[in-house]
Amino acid sequence: MPAGDQVSLSHLASITRIVEADGESALHKSVHQVLVRMLETSILAHPRISRLIDVWEGIAGTANERIAGHLHQILNHEPDEKLVRHVFRCVSSTAALRGRQTGNHSHFFDDVIDRIVRSRKDGDKSLRCECCGYQFRNRDVKTERYTKIVESGFELERSLFPGRSGDPYKPIDRGNGMTWTQLTIDHVIPEETLGWSDPDNLEVLCMFCNLGKLAYRRPLEGLSSFAVGALAEVPSNRKWGQLKHQVVVAALSALGGTCSQCAKTKSDVELTVRPLLPKDGSINGFLPWNLKSVCYICLANEGDELPQLPSAEGLEDTIGVSSLESTLGHDTE
Ligand SMILES: [Zn+2]
Ligand SMILES: [Zn+2]
Repeated sequence: MPAGDQVSLSHLASITRIVEADGESALHKSVHQVLVRMLETSILAHPRISRLIDVWEGIAGTANERIAGHLHQILNHEPDEKLVRHVFRCVSSTAALRGRQTGNHSHFFDDVIDRIVRSRKDGDKSLRCECCGYQFRNRDVKTERYTKIVESGFELERSLFPGRSGDPYKPIDRGNGMTWTQLTIDHVIPEETLGWSDPDNLEVLCMFCNLGKLAYRRPLEGLSSFAVGALAEVPSNRKWGQLKHQVVVAALSALGGTCSQCAKTKSDVELTVRPLLPKDGSINGFLPWNLKSVCYICLANEGDELPQLPSAEGLEDTIGVSSLESTLGHDTE
């Protein structure tokens, strides 16, 4: 199709199918997820669907049938049941009906904790970040939430897991006396994209994972950020930045919450990331698909060796890092 033409939903759907069929690599899967997300948001923004939000009160009883009918028209085929359910949840959400909510979700906190209690393994008393497996400590929890946590049978940690305190990829200190380890409640499907506020769409996250995720629901949605983030570790003395933060959290989320070495999951261990070693001696861009997830126990057992990056001096002459640095500096602080 010529540049500048609007991409139709059927085009988008066929590109999505091509990418899905073309390969199984991490990059294929990630691009596929992004395309699915584009399809999903295009459907939600379609006038046939978005107009349902305005007339919701009158149609709630027949909403499922109506949504299925509209999706049939939009997609030219019978819609998947899961898609109908998803669209129903989105257009009936508080965010859709009353506009975007602000503030915290403390009133949902008890429900989210109850959901975790129902799914936890017998005898497991740890309360962990549902993205990275960080085990929350007393000091990470607001006083008003403490009682619910303890009454639900959780035991909070007293100290950080060894290895976490010096991890260059998961810093702890946020500055101004704040930490990245605070317990937060966050939407899985963001409110900005009509996510609903029920326990199945809310999760307990550490502040690091919560803020690194931003509005992204699927791991590689912020592709342009990641393209720039590829330079996040060059030169090697570069300060910690927002882009790097997003790349780490996207990788943790894309890699499925499992340690690449011992196969334990985030419900048992805290995960971090380490760069995969470049195969041919080339620079490995700091990108979600160039990282592996690994737990602190494996790092401690195997000796945590960070790959050596080229020094700033060595690079400046060849690829003009100093000029890039000044262009990107504002975003990455
Ligand atoms: Zn986390
Ligand atoms: Zn491990």
